[in-house]
Amino acid sequence: MKTIVIATKNENKIIEIRAIAGNLDFNFKCSKDFPAIGEIEEDGETLKDNAIKKAKLTALGTGLWAFADDTGLEVDYLNGAPGVFSARYAGEGCSYADNNAKLLNALKGVPLHLRKAAFKCVIALSSPKGDITTVEGILPGMITETPRGTKGFGYDPIFMVDGTDKTMAELSSEEKNNLSHRGKVIRKIVPFLPRPFGASGKL
Ligand code: IMP
Repeated sequence: MKTIVIATKNENKIIEIRAIAGNLDFNFKCSKDFPAIGEIEEDGETLKDNAIKKAKLTALGTGLWAFADDTGLEVDYLNGAPGVFSARYAGEGCSYADNNAKLLNALKGVPLHLRKAAFKCVIALSSPKGDITTVEGILPGMITETPRGTKGFGYDPIFMVDGTDKTMAELSSEEKNNLSHRGKVIRKIVPFLPRPFGASGKL
């Protein structure tokens, strides 16, 4: 069985990626299994730059296939912010709750029809030699006026998915993985995975 490294230390992402892609015949590892690689700074100007950097350095550092997910929440009313800065919107070392509070505050008094937003997700897949493939996905929705729900992570409690009346934190993990930006993008990357998985993998 081939090994593929999920280039992240974010436990929530690892759980989701394993649930979405777990039926593929891979031995999944993650960055924590390779402490020698250390912290990879996300200093790119775009989600794609960051995803490529994380995947490539992890693949070259381990000699294995690796893929990295970089995600940002873009809010129309804020001209696309927090975008590539989504993780540290409320400052270095901030919590998910800090980010949500800052975003709700930035949209205080903004009517519902102007609260459109989208999760953008890029996955970069790197071969052990550093050859890169990227795929992207978008999940449109809107920012609620108050947080709702306890599941998921990050901005899930304040992001209501288009076509539902629930925030992502009110969806079961199965429901979220079926419709989320991450689910869409992982399903798109399957044909590019190293054979035989790309050919036979079913998601
Ligand atoms: P990253 O840079 O890809 O690790 O993600 C940036 C930030 O986006 C994270 O710290 C989370 O706050 C947020 N984020 C990423 N994915 C999700 C998601 O699936 N739901 C809610 N927030 C997310």
